[in-house]
Amino acid sequence: MPVTIKSAREIELMRAAGKILGKVHQDLGKELRPGMTTLEIDRTGEEMIRSYGCIPSFKNYQGFPSSVCVSVNDEVVHGIPSDRRVIQEGDIVSLDIGVIYKGYHSDAARTHGIGEISKAAADLILHTRESFFAGIRYASAGNYLYQISAAVQRTAERYGYGVVRDLVGHGIGSHLHEEPEVPNFRRFGRGIRLRSGMTLAVEPMINEGTGNVEWLDNGWTVVTRDHKLSAHYENTILITGGKPEILSVTEDEIAEGVWDPGGML
Ligand code: MG
Repeated sequence: MPVTIKSAREIELMRAAGKILGKVHQDLGKELRPGMTTLEIDRTGEEMIRSYGCIPSFKNYQGFPSSVCVSVNDEVVHGIPSDRRVIQEGDIVSLDIGVIYKGYHSDAARTHGIGEISKAAADLILHTRESFFAGIRYASAGNYLYQISAAVQRTAERYGYGVVRDLVGHGIGSHLHEEPEVPNFRRFGRGIRLRSGMTLAVEPMINEGTGNVEWLDNGWTVVTRDHKLSAHYENTILITGGKPEILSVTEDEIAEGVWDPGGML
């Protein structure tokens, strides 16, 4: 499937999907507390998604059983919610959520600390987000895809972290996963030239130790091989002639100054 350029109508729908997803992330993030099971997180998230008239993108996607991927500590992505998994003070919890609004997907992830977390864990979360923003400085029409990838990698490795290579970001639109793949590390060549109207899910998965990962026997959950921590930060973005639009940014992040939609790159 070729890389799709979204029409004005499609872009409007993806803006709406992203706005809803930003709200779900913001509200669900505030619900997290020690003693909650990961299944409760999933149920609460699914209710929020459906309250906006959206469908959870991940539910039944290739057989995935849940609406929210809840990945704790050394789990990188695709943690399967369970009523036996209780989150505790000091954990870090990555929530990866996709919504479908009128046929269009938005995909985003955030990692949250539960109560008091270690300085090392807090730094990992912060710098994973920083690597995303370093990457999207290059996410404008006329640049090349792997400029994003290289900037993510450079930023993460500057802190001594490992970049996960077995999983990558992706194009997104009427399908959850579209072309192109968006790696978080340098690949040979420079990748495709970015054009206005492309929509991408850029999603650094950054490990405290090495970038090596393995799959659990459930066939889904990816964990760090050294069982050190992993963080995930993802947004659905729209490529424009200038600064990209982060379709799934949260209002709190804008208030915090993490991203200024009207500002300079
Ligand atoms: Mg994604």
